[in-house]
Amino acid sequence: MDAADEAQKHEAAFLDAAVRARRIAPTEEQLRDESGAVICVDCDELIPAARLKSVPDAVRCVECQAAWEASL
Ligand SMILES: [Zn+2]
Repeated sequence: MDAADEAQKHEAAFLDAAVRARRIAPTEEQLRDESGAVICVDCDELIPAARLKSVPDAVRCVECQAAWEASL
């Protein structure tokens, strides 16, 4: 486990706590599969580790994020 994984773990724990405490909108929560991998909230595909390194709190894959931002 490298530092990025460790940071990701802390970020996830922090987000979980924040969600429970303040009820962040479900769309802003990261979804995870049984192995703990983050999956896109829109298409259920795995979000690549490279994306999570640059955007640790990403909830969507690149394609869905682009579509979501375009719909704002
Ligand atoms: Zn997606």
